[in-house]
Amino acid sequence: SHSLDPDAAIRSTDSDAALARLSAVQKQYLTDPYIRHLVPRAHFQPPRPPLINVGTHARSTAIDGLVDDFMRIAAHSNSGGCQIVSLGAGSDTRFWRIATGELGASLVRYIEVDFPEVTTKKAMAIKKSKQLANVLGEPADIKIANGGTSLHSPRYHLISADLRQAPEQSLHAALSVPVPGGGLKDDTGPILLPHLPTLLLFECVLVYMHSDASNALVRWFVDYFHAPNSGEPAPLGAIVYEMFGLQDPFGQVMLTNMKARSITLPGAVPYPNFASLPSRFLQHGFQHAQALTLRDIRRKYIRREEVHRTSKLEMLDELEELELVLAHYAITWGVKVGRISGDSRWAA
Ligand code: SAM
Repeated sequence: SHSLDPDAAIRSTDSDAALARLSAVQKQYLTDPYIRHLVPRAHFQPPRPPLINVGTHARSTAIDGLVDDFMRIAAHSNSGGCQIVSLGAGSDTRFWRIATGELGASLVRYIEVDFPEVTTKKAMAIKKSKQLANVLGEPADIKIANGGTSLHSPRYHLISADLRQAPEQSLHAALSVPVPGGGLKDDTGPILLPHLPTLLLFECVLVYMHSDASNALVRWFVDYFHAPNSGEPAPLGAIVYEMFGLQDPFGQVMLTNMKARSITLPGAVPYPNFASLPSRFLQHGFQHAQALTLRDIRRKYIRREEVHRTSKLEMLDELEELELVLAHYAITWGVKVGRISGDSRWAA
């Protein structure tokens, strides 16, 4: 069926990501009471190999830390909270974890975008699960729209779009145009608020699109928050998680290894090399941008106790292989501001 619809293979990577998360939760690498409500037959899903669990833990812990930092900065900047936009969000549970966590009160909007097939399934899962729906608000506040492909609630919005299409057409209509009766408490404003500190998340998604398309996306957001008449624009942050550097000979070996392990990778898109990762943001006027491999993140940035705790959960026979694999994934983050200061990771 994938050969008839090439995008079906791309969409199916969401199940891989969700199963990896579920596995890491079942094996106690991560705590996440929400993921099982988004995975069909969650109790019957076999765990993933230890290598995948460790990688999922490193990625999730690192991104959680960066999101947390950004939200704290926003909370201290007297801007009235912040908003997060997750592009290619799939079955991610981050909204629920943040909304029920320590910083939940400062989250004004959380917007998720994915293909309509993916958002339809997620919208249905949310409607079906009390645990998920309760976090969004009263049942009357939760509205399914656009033929089942969108869901709106006071804070959380799930929207369908093909991110490869020109954002002036796709995202513009969905995010920046006031939606009458679209489920917002104040039916007058756009979903994406133009004055709030905003964090963009691209977790395992840019690899499925051409860099022209991802550049256009970042540019659209930069322009959206550009405020020519009203002083300084609110901080715009972005986090990208992706695989890189598989074009070099070493990368080819890696690719073969991973295929042997049934880790599927899209073939068509050229992977960027490590040094080029921050330029994705710097070319759009971000002042700070930095990339770290998952290997370095696990070695240097995840708390020692946490690395120690997780390294005891399962037998990992090939530590060297783990390091090799983790060295091919990177988290890049950048911020475009005048106002962020202090010794945060965001103001490197
Ligand atoms: N970000 C989630 C996570 O990390 O758990 C899901 C990652 S999953 C590997 C990639 C997601 O990106 C899928 O849900 C897929 O449907 C979505 N995606 C890929 N290309 C897309 C596009 N052009 N438009 C919208 N969504 C896209």
